[in-house]
Amino acid sequence: MPLKALDIYKLLPRKNCKECGDPTCLTFAMKLAAGKADIELCPYLDENAKSVLGATTRPPIRRVKLGVGERSFAVGEEFVLYRHDKTFYHPPGIMFVVSDTQSEEEITAITARVRDETLTRVGADLKFNGTAIVNTSGTIEAYAKAVAAVEKTAGLPEVLVSENPAALAAALVLCGSYHPTICAATPENYKQICALAKQYACRLVVRASTLEALVQLAKDCVAEGVPDILLDPGAKTLGDFLYRSTAVRQLAITRAVPDLGYPVYLDATTFEDEDAAIALGIVKYASVIVAKPLSPASAKAALTLRQNIYTDPQKPIQMNPGIYRVGTPGKDAPVLMTVNFSLTYFTLQGYLESTRIPCFMLIVDTEGLSVLTSVAAGKLNESLVRDAIKKFGVEGEVNHRKLIIPGYAAPLSGRIEEATGWKVLVGPRDAAEIGEYLVQEWKP
Ligand code: SF4
Repeated sequence: MPLKALDIYKLLPRKNCKECGDPTCLTFAMKLAAGKADIELCPYLDENAKSVLGATTRPPIRRVKLGVGERSFAVGEEFVLYRHDKTFYHPPGIMFVVSDTQSEEEITAITARVRDETLTRVGADLKFNGTAIVNTSGTIEAYAKAVAAVEKTAGLPEVLVSENPAALAAALVLCGSYHPTICAATPENYKQICALAKQYACRLVVRASTLEALVQLAKDCVAEGVPDILLDPGAKTLGDFLYRSTAVRQLAITRAVPDLGYPVYLDATTFEDEDAAIALGIVKYASVIVAKPLSPASAKAALTLRQNIYTDPQKPIQMNPGIYRVGTPGKDAPVLMTVNFSLTYFTLQGYLESTRIPCFMLIVDTEGLSVLTSVAAGKLNESLVRDAIKKFGVEGEVNHRKLIIPGYAAPLSGRIEEATGWKVLVGPRDAAEIGEYLVQEWKP
């Protein structure tokens, strides 16, 4: 059972010396209880406290970092079963498969796609994460050639998929310094695979056909000196994956089976409906998902779903308040005020761009609430608009004094006029109508 902050506090030295980086032992205890601090930060813990706290305060799912450099990413370190309880922290890496039976050109093209393809959505650049190089040919030479082609193209995180230690060894000579992930150790080969993983400081996928065997194999690999492991629950159907992955998460976060406290690996290529497997993996606890290069529609769906699941449900996605330009607006350009809820901003911005009428967007801070909600909650009010006009220097940007407000903020129009001295024009409720509105109504 996880300890509560007060129980942890009783085990701390209570010197309040600040050496852990926290102002008091109590705040350090609260961080430990939330899994947000490491006991090693306090130099004064006695052995008893270390052993009690070590077992109960470390994150229930180990954080594992894949790759090195700019495109490396961390997975694991999750604390809840349901995102509404807290949030999910580390989105799964989606890796595209390349096979050593493909030509060098094909391998290069897939790797370059992972390196370059970006979907920009609600202000974030969404990308795929790396490549999984499969030893389909079964030969050492072809595998090394495929790995070399990937290496030549991009410094992305890699999964080396082979159960042949000789092929893995040849590949690791080429890419070992990038700490690739080896897939997979099984009950039959784990000693040889662990030796390679240890030699090159690799992450390791462990695969077994039952959860009991997976627990044992995870223990064996850790005992061999490989602590950074991912669990492949070896599911044959989507239902099976859902059951096993949920069981792993539940047993790990409740600390009922600490040996399952590792991120989950999913090879979506083994399922008939790969799109469904990817979606299930994103929603139900996969941390690394290996997939064939996706069609544009499937790619967009996967990246969008991942972004949605891994945003904090308790915090609306927000824009920074300020004055934003659409096109190159001049002194007579319209000024449209709206809230800093990202979805509102990007929806309106998209429609404004398509009108091709250069304008200013004045974004006010409603703490990420939508127009309707912020009006109802009193977050959007005349003082906020008046202060934003001053703070962001809107008066210096245009010669007129006319402000277009969203249709849902119409009840505030009189009060905004009084507070700002600007003439307020009430725009449409639906952002899709803004183009027509500007064409018909806007006169500086
Ligand atoms: Fe307390 Fe240890 Fe932090 Fe000092 S270093 S404030 S004793 S928890």
